[in-house]
Amino acid sequence: MHLKSPYPPVPPIPDTLNVHDFIFNTPTKTAPDYVSLVDVVSGDKLTRRQLEERVRDAATALGASVEEGGLGLSGDAGDIVAICSGNCMDFITLLHACLVVTTPFALVSSYSTHLELVHALRLTNATRVFVHPSILPRMLTAAQEVGLPEDRVYVLEGTTSEVGGRRKNLGELIEGVRTRGMERVPVRQATKDTLAYLVFSSGTTGLPKAVMISHGNMWFTLVSGDIVGAVDFEVTKVLPPPARQMSYATDSSLLQFVPPFPPVTLAVLPFYHTYGLQLFCIRCVINPVTYVVVPKWDPRVVLKAIPKFKINYVLLVPSIIHQLVESGMLDKADLSSVWGVATGAAFLPPKVEEKFTSIVKQVPRVQVGYGLSECTLSSMRSPVPGILGGKIPIRGSTGILLPGIEARVLRDDGSEADYNEPGELWLKGGNVALGYFRNEQATKETFVNGWLRTGDRFTVDENDNFFFVDRIKDTLKVSGAQVSPTEIEEVLRMHPAKLLSDVCVAGVSGGRTSDEKVPRAWVVLSAEAKRRGNVKEVLDEVEAWARKSLSKYKWLRGGIEVVDEIPKSPTGKVLRRQLQDRYEAELLAR
Ligand code: AMP
Repeated sequence: MHLKSPYPPVPPIPDTLNVHDFIFNTPTKTAPDYVSLVDVVSGDKLTRRQLEERVRDAATALGASVEEGGLGLSGDAGDIVAICSGNCMDFITLLHACLVVTTPFALVSSYSTHLELVHALRLTNATRVFVHPSILPRMLTAAQEVGLPEDRVYVLEGTTSEVGGRRKNLGELIEGVRTRGMERVPVRQATKDTLAYLVFSSGTTGLPKAVMISHGNMWFTLVSGDIVGAVDFEVTKVLPPPARQMSYATDSSLLQFVPPFPPVTLAVLPFYHTYGLQLFCIRCVINPVTYVVVPKWDPRVVLKAIPKFKINYVLLVPSIIHQLVESGMLDKADLSSVWGVATGAAFLPPKVEEKFTSIVKQVPRVQVGYGLSECTLSSMRSPVPGILGGKIPIRGSTGILLPGIEARVLRDDGSEADYNEPGELWLKGGNVALGYFRNEQATKETFVNGWLRTGDRFTVDENDNFFFVDRIKDTLKVSGAQVSPTEIEEVLRMHPAKLLSDVCVAGVSGGRTSDEKVPRAWVVLSAEAKRRGNVKEVLDEVEAWARKSLSKYKWLRGGIEVVDEIPKSPTGKVLRRQLQDRYEAELLAR
């Protein structure tokens, strides 16, 4: 199976470009003073024009030389700016400013523990850090551990008094540029392969790695989205508004008309994940849509914000949709303003979708996208009904290939699978990342002759609709976020009292949706643990260590089991599947 996207092609990526120019200079039909961003908590607003001004002033603060009063940052000099914060407006300002001065930014989860922060700083080699005040103490300890001087850590949002003293926040850096009347730095030239940002993913196996996304990858993703929008627009322009604006918040070519009402979207998925970054932080500049920025997922805040801001387009992940449906919270909520809902990042079981659309009746279908951090955003999406010779979205399908994308579905022996036969999905297109930062081995294994191995098993039907089957790779998805069993194993091995002599972690049933597995550990006790005698106490200690060291979504919700040995192949490869299958069989027998 080797398929090409049914959409019109994407033109070649220009050799020289700075994606900032493309993002900010795409013509818009909407007045520059429409409100791009609203902060759900403070109610603060930024218009498109104000955002642009703020970005250019922030870029000057970052990129002007130290003598001129800037930080003197430059990608050429190896600078990398780590951003670690919940969603906030200046997260968006900062990352666009980094693009202007071609200084890559690294997206670090705001839920990171000390250990995870240390790993992120080491892996990305960050030379500056911008952090939300609530994470500052943790970040300072991590910075000290990796030898990053304290004065390289800045604050995003908040005031200096909140963080006690001289530490600068982005707002103050911008104010400094304005009060001193500093001349704005120009947009630095880049090539299509210039590194734009780093985002974490464990890929098909092993520890989390930093995926390198280029200016060219970002350009391709935007242009590909624009082509989808143009095709959708031609078909749907004769329809009444809700159907017509199905993809309003995701496609820029919907700029072709000004809607009869103000489109408003909820920006609640984390900005440090590729999905939130691309769909909110980048699209908020291009699409004439107001984005209501929510710091982190909290159903009460979100369900209040929807009627308050008359939000009509919502992007979620399957576990959140599941939570909303099962909790009964939707019964009392006013969702009458919503006309479109989209999801991605994990599998949306058809039953969950059906239940959701039976409650939120004006939304006939949840639009599904499929993608990976390694391909910038998505490579497939549900078609808008009736496009391209009558394609229709099918429940349970991840949609059709987006413009400029090719796919192969391969059997284990590398031959091409037939229609409806499962195989590993490989993808090709201008959205495929440059590779993993400073990790040649993993790059070679995952990026093969321009193709990206996804580690996901798919089937394709005769109408070129794709269906996710399962993950061949070790990586689990919990609440849409990646969990690497290898990372958890490493952390367990690091227990200071060395309680385990061997360990294996894998996903087992127990998550919110059928696709969501929870991590479970099989452990062999060390001589020290055996000497202590009380196995329960030992396991409690191991679990407490995991909780202290890992973000909550990585906790061992599938339990810990003591075994005599971890099964391995003759070559020493851990046979995770054997342990998983045995556990699932025991579960069934209970
Ligand atoms: P991330 O890099 O965190 O976006 O994770 C990418 C992985 O998420 C993919 O390789 C899939 O395993 C999973 N994923 C993303 N979208 C979907 C989807 N629509 N259905 C099933 N799995 C998905």
